Amino acid sequence: MKFVPPALLLLFSLSFAGAWALERVRRYLLFFAGAYLCIGLAALGQIAFWPRDIGHNTMISATLYCLGVLLLGEGVLRRSGHRIALPVPAVIIGFIVAGIFYFFYIDRSLVIRVYILNFGLAALLLAIAWQARFLRHGQVTDRALFWLIMVVGLHFFPRTILTMSVFTDGDPTAFGATTFWTWVQITLSLIGAATALGLMSITAVDVVTALRGERDSDPLTGLLNRRGLELRNRDQRKAQDRSVSSIVACDIDNFKIINDTYGHAVGDEVLEGFSRIIRNLSRADDIVARIGGEEFVVVLKGTPPMRAYQFAERLRQDIQRAVFPGLPQQHTVTCSFGVVEFRAGADLWATVERADEYLYAAKKAGRNRTFMEEVQTVDAV
Ligand code: GH3
Ligand code: MG
Ligand code: MG
Repeated sequence: MKFVPPALLLLFSLSFAGAWALERVRRYLLFFAGAYLCIGLAALGQIAFWPRDIGHNTMISATLYCLGVLLLGEGVLRRSGHRIALPVPAVIIGFIVAGIFYFFYIDRSLVIRVYILNFGLAALLLAIAWQARFLRHGQVTDRALFWLIMVVGLHFFPRTILTMSVFTDGDPTAFGATTFWTWVQITLSLIGAATALGLMSITAVDVVTALRGERDSDPLTGLLNRRGLELRNRDQRKAQDRSVSSIVACDIDNFKIINDTYGHAVGDEVLEGFSRIIRNLSRADDIVARIGGEEFVVVLKGTPPMRAYQFAERLRQDIQRAVFPGLPQQHTVTCSFGVVEFRAGADLWATVERADEYLYAAKKAGRNRTFMEEVQTVDAV
């Protein structure tokens, strides 16, 4: 029965490795797998009394616990594209290992060893939480991860004090053999397992979020696709104020000629370059989508059509001036635009269709221009 908790920890290690193997892109899962391997082996060693030599057992398990927490921290930071800054964690681990060595081999004291290991691991986790403090301002999963590390780190304080309040009555050597001590080990494993469940849930949300992102975006340009545009628009609608918005429809001129003359691959590069320009010009809450082959839509929230017109004109000029890889320098790429007001409560696709009408009027008039619907202005009273 007492082998269940370490077995659980080792099973989590396998699960993290398995989750990594599915896609082989989330390398932080390998660090979680390594962390749980170390923590599981440390718990197993302590519970199974392996190695038999108590000194070796103490030193090895303490080192494995430290290494496990360090790998956990590296995983947490790598998940957000960071790396752990080693100096502080290394000093803490140095203190833990040296302290446990001293209070086993030189001035033997189980009490002090318990304090050193528990407060040391708490300090290590809090140092990791400090390095990962940017997570507090991230997505829900980021914040959950930050608080998971914090709570696990902080739990060592009441836990150790509780352990020691029971311990003071007993004699140090006998204490190691009590059921209470075994209970202490087992709860530590259970907390490790609960943390693993938390990490697993966060990973599951990460995967679903990434899949959703792929589903809602266009793989070539990374812009939103039709579905992404619709969903983002719906999200923004809920929070939208009553201010006026606009929709800009855009279509690259004579794109077929680019494909036919220089090949499909060059056409793709032009689409990518075009998307970069449009993204650079847009603000964070503008919705930029590729809704067809070389047709794009930008929803400009809180922007009146006149300003949207200026935006389209700037974009048109930037495209005209841009040099696209794969195209000879003298080949200018041009676009035509249609701009309409996006009234509160109006249907998205009906408004895009209206913008398209102006866009095709611009095409008919000779391309490389922006047409805007007549906007009724209210005279100042
Ligand atoms: P117009 O100025 O009237 O818009 O003319 P156009 O040639 O741009 O328009 P048309 O609709 O005739 O041609 C669009 C071309 O875009 C045809 C299609 O093969 C090409 N296309 C659609 N999707 C992609 C893509 O993902 N990559 C590439 N390279 N070409 C694409
Ligand atoms: Mg076109
Ligand atoms: Mg087209």
